[in-house]
Amino acid sequence: MIERTLVLVKPDGVYRALIGKVISTFEDAGLKVIGIKMVQPDEDIAGKHYVADEEWLLSIGRKTKESYREKGQEIKETEMEIGQRVRNSLLKYLTSGPVAAIVLEGNSSIYIVRKLIGATEPRKADPYSIRGRFGADSYDMGDAKNRSIRNVVHASEDEKSAKREIALWFKNEELVSYKRVDEEYLY
Ligand code: ADP
Ligand code: MG
Repeated sequence: MIERTLVLVKPDGVYRALIGKVISTFEDAGLKVIGIKMVQPDEDIAGKHYVADEEWLLSIGRKTKESYREKGQEIKETEMEIGQRVRNSLLKYLTSGPVAAIVLEGNSSIYIVRKLIGATEPRKADPYSIRGRFGADSYDMGDAKNRSIRNVVHASEDEKSAKREIALWFKNEELVSYKRVDEEYLY
């Protein structure tokens, strides 16, 4: 059913002039841009965006450990230690330059956007996904350079976070309502 989701083109995507290609990918899939703006995030909004939710910190640790294991390597930190370390580097990443904040609307948009962006690690992401097409970074490269993975985009993970993130980045009156000319053929 019709849902809204938040996408951020992260600073690496903005610096690499990928905003247009990222938006085209979503528009081509039938999603409608109902909010869009450039923002230079400060510590406050970055901290609220990447709120220190325990489940999420653990899931970051789990995904990271799994990626190392697949490569036959081992990472000694606990899942929580990894999650906390990554969150700190993420705050630096998000405040390091401008982001494009975008709200997309469409059928099952949260799921579709996550599918189109691909896996967190660009090295692993599907080659047709945004992160796979436009990225080459990996967990171990990020760790070696003591920074967060550069993967061009953020997208909300579920309905609850989509609602929270849209309200964080946009005022209600910054979101618009209109009909795409192809809507009757899409749905
Ligand atoms: P996603 O962005 O795919 O939802 P997560 O929510 O798990 O991924 O992580 C948020 C962001 O943190 C990722 O997009 C990535 O930029 C960064 N990140 C995650 N794990 C690591 C890690 N082990 N090392 C460096 N950066 C990481
Ligand atoms: Mg996430």
